[in-house]
Amino acid sequence: PDIERLGVHDSVESVFPPSELADSLSDLPVEVAVIGDDEIDSCDAVVTLEHRDAFLELAWIHSIQAGVDRFPFDDLEERGVLLTNSTGIHDRWVGETVASYLLAFARRLHEHVANQQERRWEQPAWDDGFTLPGTTACVVGTGTLGSGVAEVLGSLGVRITGVRRSGDPVEGFAEVYASEDLEDAVADADFVIVTLPLTEATRHLFDADVFGAMADDAYLVNVGRGPVVDEDALIDALEADGLAGAALDVFETEPLPAESPLWEMDEVIVTPHCAAFTEDYYRAIGDLVRENVERFAEGEAATNRVV
Ligand code: NAD
Repeated sequence: PDIERLGVHDSVESVFPPSELADSLSDLPVEVAVIGDDEIDSCDAVVTLEHRDAFLELAWIHSIQAGVDRFPFDDLEERGVLLTNSTGIHDRWVGETVASYLLAFARRLHEHVANQQERRWEQPAWDDGFTLPGTTACVVGTGTLGSGVAEVLGSLGVRITGVRRSGDPVEGFAEVYASEDLEDAVADADFVIVTLPLTEATRHLFDADVFGAMADDAYLVNVGRGPVVDEDALIDALEADGLAGAALDVFETEPLPAESPLWEMDEVIVTPHCAAFTEDYYRAIGDLVRENVERFAEGEAATNRVV
């Protein structure tokens, strides 16, 4: 596409200040401006968190997230709108978040923080704490997030297994299962970590059967997308002590509704879809946008193209 004016849509505000990104791109040979909904038609391209129907009139949309399940692929294709995403940047950030969940469960940090809120001096039972070396984490989805999680957890002595559609080996994974063997893959794991995108094939992939296949003392971590997990089935499994606990960054409904039982469960860590938040986020987005603007100027194909 021929880009003259690139808007940074103000919906990115919840992840970083839009002006930081716009300023960092000010040397590009295209005009870059922070825009609201009323200025979309002044642009031919946009960098955004959320989708707006008015984007269907543009030539190019760049999503600041890796997950693009909220965008209407068919409409974009029909209107000839290019959609690119931000996969490839979240590996280390999300990997460290997942490591912090696992360390919290192992070293009981979530329990201590809850006690501190109540000014309560209470040591854990002698056999509540454990350490990570010798545990196994099964990472379901071996893309950018999965690889980053494997790298950080591997450095903490966790044995890493994985699940991908083909079942072919992946560097950093001791064993890789094919998607149809998901229940076998999770059966041996102390931690099951969901790093999948939301697609028709992954919606509610984690259901009562999968939780039943997991060990009663295993933990579930979801940093992919909420609807990949059947949340009611997860709550049932947690309430029935079919799982030890869960760390969840993404939910079927976001923000997580106040009435959700997940908020009050002792062995559940809730984070508000921020596993990838870092002060460097806008810089990594800037690099991706810059690369594509330069590619378009050279007549080359887009990187990270989705539609
Ligand atoms: P990616 O494209 O690098 O990796 C996704 C992987 O999932 C790929 O390897 C793909 O082959 C695999 N996959 C897709 N469908 C599958 C299936 N049915 N069975 C098995 N494997 C399947 O993307 P990524 O950057 O790793 O991000 C993955 C997802 O994580 C995103 O789509 C997004 O929804 C989510 N995400 C969440 C956060 C967060 O803040 N919590 C941050 C980044 C990404």
